[in-house]
Amino acid sequence: MASDVHGDDGAGARRDGRFDRDGKRVDRQVRAFAVVVVGHGGYRSVRVGVAPPIAKSLIARVVHRWRRRSVTVRAMAAMVRTIEPGEGRVVLLVVAHADDVALFLGGTVAMWADAGWLVVVVRVTDDRWDSVGSDEASTMAANRMDFEDATAILGVHEIVELGYPTDTLGDVSTIELRERIIHSVRTYRPYALVSFDPYAMYGEDNLDHIAVARAVDESFWTSQFDLHHPEHFAETSAHTGQPLAPHGCFERWYFGRRVVDVTDVVDITATLDRKVAAGCCHRTMMLNFFNQLRMQAETGGWRLPPVENALAAGDVADVLPRLLRAGSEGVGARYGVAAAEEFRVVTFGGMQGLLDALGERI
Ligand SMILES: [Zn+2]
Repeated sequence: MASDVHGDDGAGARRDGRFDRDGKRVDRQVRAFAVVVVGHGGYRSVRVGVAPPIAKSLIARVVHRWRRRSVTVRAMAAMVRTIEPGEGRVVLLVVAHADDVALFLGGTVAMWADAGWLVVVVRVTDDRWDSVGSDEASTMAANRMDFEDATAILGVHEIVELGYPTDTLGDVSTIELRERIIHSVRTYRPYALVSFDPYAMYGEDNLDHIAVARAVDESFWTSQFDLHHPEHFAETSAHTGQPLAPHGCFERWYFGRRVVDVTDVVDITATLDRKVAAGCCHRTMMLNFFNQLRMQAETGGWRLPPVENALAAGDVADVLPRLLRAGSEGVGARYGVAAAEEFRVVTFGGMQGLLDALGERI
């Protein structure tokens, strides 16, 4: 968290001409200030009295800028975007696990499908160990079936399976994983590349998510290099029927457990029912999740009767819809809509200004 605040203010100071005269020194003071703010949990507790007068003045200015920026970020976050017609364009969504699609962005996936986008999902792992009371082969088959049911409800056009054993991506080379994702980018030539946000990892304890986030982020630009994996160019795309070639995606969409710097919010009121239905398809994984909740609660001296009933019945339908609805409705409440999902979206590699200055519509 400290680094988030520090990063924002550091960038702001560099952009602001008022600090150019003594850039380095100011930058150090800005960093020091940010640490104090985070450490005390708010500006009211910042003790500027210990700083020399010049520093007090600078800190006051930075406080003002930081507060103004915070307001701006919140205002930006309040803007809910519409999904434009896809007209057959491709969204390439890369996830680690079967249930990531429905749980993280199921409502938006259904919105894309409804709007005429072709949503292609790359599942990196096979979820072979995500169950309770089953064996590996049965688990893998059940999770694959649950995944197909869920993605069908959401209107996913195609699934690509990379087949890595689940919960082991922490030990897989990022470069190896990146190559597989570059291959999918070159095969499907997506308009938008969507995955976990490598910078939204606060509270993220799943190395598969982190590994996928990093590999996809590098795939965005390396898929455009003709010297990265030129062996791909001898292959024909199963999607386009053309030889694979370097490809640049126009938009990057990032999601996560806690997205920092939310830029875009999708109103999923129209598709919430399908998100919930898709989430409930993942009975195998959700029962394992419920079993984990039961164990944690028990250690803490608690019982969770609805969860225990679901486990006894082998059915998540009584509890899970409530949880999924509450999550999406809680996000929606922050933006004045019934249900929503949050994203950080970067267009044209973050160089929209360059596009505005030099670009012409084809
Ligand atoms: Zn996951």
